[in-house]
Amino acid sequence: MTEKCGVVGVSLDGRSAARPLYYALYALQHRGQESAGIVTHDGFQQHSHVDMGLVGEVFEEDDLDVLNGSTGIGHVRYPTAGSVDSSCAQPFSVSFKSGSLGLSHNGNLVNADEIREELAAGGHAFTSDGDTEVIAHDLARNLLEEDLVRAVKRTMGRIHGSYALTISHDDTILGVRDPQGNRPLCIGELEDGYILASESAAIDTLDGTLVRDVRPGELVVLQDDGQGFDSYQLIDNENTAHCFFEHVYFARPDSVIDDTLVYEARRNLGRKLWAESGVETDVVMPVPDSGRAFASGYADAASETMADGTPRADADEGVEFAEGLMKNRYVGRTFIMPTQDERERAVRLKLNPIKSTVEGKTVTVIDDSIVRGTTSTQLVQLLKDCGAEEVHVRIGAPEIVAPCYMGIDMATREELIASDKTTAEIRDAIDADSLAYLSTDAVADVLDMERLDLCLGCVTGEYPYDIDGEETDRDVTRPNVGETRLHADD
Ligand code: SF4
Repeated sequence: MTEKCGVVGVSLDGRSAARPLYYALYALQHRGQESAGIVTHDGFQQHSHVDMGLVGEVFEEDDLDVLNGSTGIGHVRYPTAGSVDSSCAQPFSVSFKSGSLGLSHNGNLVNADEIREELAAGGHAFTSDGDTEVIAHDLARNLLEEDLVRAVKRTMGRIHGSYALTISHDDTILGVRDPQGNRPLCIGELEDGYILASESAAIDTLDGTLVRDVRPGELVVLQDDGQGFDSYQLIDNENTAHCFFEHVYFARPDSVIDDTLVYEARRNLGRKLWAESGVETDVVMPVPDSGRAFASGYADAASETMADGTPRADADEGVEFAEGLMKNRYVGRTFIMPTQDERERAVRLKLNPIKSTVEGKTVTVIDDSIVRGTTSTQLVQLLKDCGAEEVHVRIGAPEIVAPCYMGIDMATREELIASDKTTAEIRDAIDADSLAYLSTDAVADVLDMERLDLCLGCVTGEYPYDIDGEETDRDVTRPNVGETRLHADD
């Protein structure tokens, strides 16, 4: 699974924005490795440098030197909608009659094609097949008729889907989150300005202070002198639809989302996993690095209670926590291996068990998800080859049964092992002695949210957006694009 994107925007009091944006993109690199870019504005004109590759590959010293101006936005991308080439790399920038626009988008629109058709019929020429350009053109058109805030509101009334945006309109930086707040976006204060970023880890990197999350449906406008920001709650929704996988997998453990440190949330999910499906084994070990926080919480809870829930008399009798699997950090992620054979080889290249930790022992191995089942099968086999007597698998999230339409590159429904197999069948397929997932109720409980305030689409098959051919988990319909154009003038 891969996150689609990371976004950032800064407005500083006179200092060049290029380097802070560059460092922030480094902090968000885990959210996208395909392309990176920065757009700045110096008060007179827009400057842009966008290319394919990692942040460290895309920017040379000279590139940063010519990105003039104290305001700007940045982006790292892993593509799911649109082509895998530079035409979809971001920020997307465009100049039009009322100035210049830059757009960085994290998420995925459900109705981009309808809006693109309408705009194209009105004479808009598109240079990519990505949904970000659709938002940019729609906003540019609205800006010809409206002030900034009303133009953004009008565009928000037309687009349907998941979006966290940083936008530059000349030297004004904006942040927008979709009315259900599917993707994260937060505000930070720097010594000499303000920053908007997908994750608070980017704010930490710049020695800034997290102010708060951008609220679902909110527009935040950073003042162009770096002295503050203005807030406009443009759309109020009864329920939110935060992606629960941000907490489980995508976000950095040192980021804070919804006032909770992601590492702590994962540890608490691990504790819950023990409470729901703990099994007494000699040793518990994480799949590095994704399972580490879950396994630590799981082992912690196991030192307090026995698997049946009764308090443990002696904490030393709990399940031993051990790093029994070593990761080769120089192997690419398994998802970029296109064939099954290559993916299987990649797992063996990537993970190596420490024999003395597992030999002759019963082992519980903990991860955050099972997608195709390839990694888990290989892992169980590796541990058994190293002499493990039993291998039990525990997963800190519910079964992934359906694809994501909101910007996560997951797999097709056919590729997802849980889409047509029961937990017992998956256990047999991966050859584990037992297998258990966390329940969706446990996820909502640990994240301290109502189920209806979370997106659980990939684990329930019911989505918080109106997606062709899929069920919804709430009363939601996408806007009629033609009507929104005619009547969205409030
Ligand atoms: S479908 Fe799953 S991965 Fe996609 S936004 Fe919803 S919870 Fe997140």
